[in-house]
Amino acid sequence: MPLKSDPRRERRDSLIRLLQQNKAQAIAITHLPNVRYLCGFTGSNALLLISARESILFTDPRYDIQAATESDVPVRVVRGVLWNDAAKEIRRRRIFRLALESDKVSHADWDAIGSHIGARAELLPVQGLVEALRAVKSSDEIEKIRRSVLLNSQALALTLPLLKPGMTELEVAAELDYRMRRLGAEGTAFETIVACGRRSALPHARPTSELLKNNRLLLIDMGASLEGYASDMTRVFHLGKPGRKVRALYDMVLEAQLAAIAAVRPGATCASVDLAARETLHRHRHAQFFTHSTGHGLGLEIHEGPRLGAKVESVLLPGMVVTIEPGVYLEGFGGIRIEDTVLVTETGVEVLTPSTKEFLEIAS
Ligand code: ZN
Ligand code: ZN
Repeated sequence: MPLKSDPRRERRDSLIRLLQQNKAQAIAITHLPNVRYLCGFTGSNALLLISARESILFTDPRYDIQAATESDVPVRVVRGVLWNDAAKEIRRRRIFRLALESDKVSHADWDAIGSHIGARAELLPVQGLVEALRAVKSSDEIEKIRRSVLLNSQALALTLPLLKPGMTELEVAAELDYRMRRLGAEGTAFETIVACGRRSALPHARPTSELLKNNRLLLIDMGASLEGYASDMTRVFHLGKPGRKVRALYDMVLEAQLAAIAAVRPGATCASVDLAARETLHRHRHAQFFTHSTGHGLGLEIHEGPRLGAKVESVLLPGMVVTIEPGVYLEGFGGIRIEDTVLVTETGVEVLTPSTKEFLEIAS
């Protein structure tokens, strides 16, 4: 009976085909999410050399046991700079065209690697090869993201009844983070954003000692990391009963978010999804207050491809998981963003985030 093939091996085979198109004999990967994706190793120091002949993972003695357990390629434990030993291997194998991820390797490292591998060898800058593979998730990865998304929503649901005026933004963030961990997350996928009142107009506000007060907006943007996979959700609440202006703003952003979700399907360009949100806000004369792109892919990293931006002409494919998160930010007043994690299916879209998008009131 044939064994179920290991996804990591298939990923490396796909990468090798991409390398051949780039006329490279091998690639050295040091970006840790890419290392994890390609061989399973989750440590913090790694160099993965991938070639058609054989791949090798270089790491240091702290990871001796862990690497042998996690990695499905042979491991070489070395002391000191991993590149020294990797370069010896590259010379020994007579690899003369080595690809490097030029957006991940510093200029100083690039020069050092060049001198290590010998004058005859050439370094080829490549970008986004592994990321392109990672953008389309396997069913196993989708399951992990689904669980991460559910956990994230549960953590919010468990925290909501505790929220009340007088708490600080930091306390709210701590309650959310605690519940994510209690529910089984390894941690948060990014620093939890809690922003009250005018501070909600800062799309990336860090929580402060600012107090939650009545008659203010409360924006929460949170994500869990579960089995390495991220989730990402933003919800906005109102402390006390919202007035007409703020409710109209909320409805407008929700309309834009639903329009963008409706535009998600295989074959649609990233730009068209962004445009759906932007046009809705434009009709309401608020497009100028929507200052970021509509969404981003997520997986082993919180921000990965594809980016749902105005100029991104690449198309969505089944298996991609992206966020849809339009927002409107009014300086001195506040901001509203609504964000779900969605899956591109064979025929359209599935919203993974189960949390309600009703404009909820937090009672005093
Ligand atoms: Zn978010
Ligand atoms: Zn996001």
